[in-house]
Amino acid sequence: MTPIHHVTPLLRSSVLSAHHGADVWLKLDSAQPSASFKLRGMGHACQQAVQRGARHLVSSSGGNAGYAVAYAGRQLGVPVTVVVPRRTAERMRRLIEGEGAVVQVHGEVWDDAHEHALQLAPSLSGVVIHPFDAPDVWAGHASLVEEVHAEGVRPEAVVVSVGGGGLMCGVLQGMHGVGWADTPLVAVETEGAASFAAAMAAQRPVTLAEIGSLALTLGAKTVCERAVQWCQAHPIHSWLCSDRAAVQACGRFLDDHRVLVEPACGAALASIYDSAEPLRGRSVLVVVCGGASVTQEQLAGWQEQVRGPAGEAEDPRES
Ligand SMILES: *Cc1c(COP(=O)(O)O)cnc(C)c1O
Repeated sequence: MTPIHHVTPLLRSSVLSAHHGADVWLKLDSAQPSASFKLRGMGHACQQAVQRGARHLVSSSGGNAGYAVAYAGRQLGVPVTVVVPRRTAERMRRLIEGEGAVVQVHGEVWDDAHEHALQLAPSLSGVVIHPFDAPDVWAGHASLVEEVHAEGVRPEAVVVSVGGGGLMCGVLQGMHGVGWADTPLVAVETEGAASFAAAMAAQRPVTLAEIGSLALTLGAKTVCERAVQWCQAHPIHSWLCSDRAAVQACGRFLDDHRVLVEPACGAALASIYDSAEPLRGRSVLVVVCGGASVTQEQLAGWQEQVRGPAGEAEDPRES
């Protein structure tokens, strides 16, 4: 079966490599047709579901996962319903509808929408495509590493952002598949959405009381169990950054590479711009996970929101 996702560009960034002092490789999954890596896992999971007889695909994500399921459903010729929470932006709803999917609004947060999707699915002969906690999703995400390996690039560390942990599980699965079992993985979150850091410390999934981060895409209150299990099987470092660092990284990346990404992705890039300790002296593969819910105007708004007190340097390069 031909995958639904695209093979994305892999490039050695001269600007980021010079800053980092070692090679920085960018896997530009922002270039997927649904603007994020999510199409890998959702695309594969949708194909598998349809092959097993699903007549309708149901997604519970108001963000990039829902958009990816909508795209995949159209490619497969299967109707899609996406249940989004009220906080999902109007623009994102329109993007999802633009792929021909039906959007239903339910509840305040993702958990409410997910509950509703589970109830709704049987009446539609539908199958719910989980945004991060499913083996088919991880298998699809693993293709990202397979593509890098096929190009002969062998980094000394890999950086991913972590929300619910699906990307991380898939990347780790891919790394083990191509023989990178000893290559450290740096799992990045913003401080207000640090559910993986909490789970790693507790050695089990921990549910955060609330999400206090601009990086809504990283705002899963609980990471999947599999992500925590990986800590026993792979060298994993947790690294946290502020919302401010994530947003600044989006702005710098836009200037450096002319690609606009969400703060969820900016967080991963901040590990390079802010010289995260676990990466020093190592060549790095950064998963540029992308994200569709960002516009120039939105980025400007976030930059305003995270601006420090007057007089404080905004950008370390200028201080
Ligand atoms: C979904 C998403 C993440 C987090 O992925 P998980 O699989 O939930 O950990 C990070 N960045 C972007 C742009 C995303 O869409």
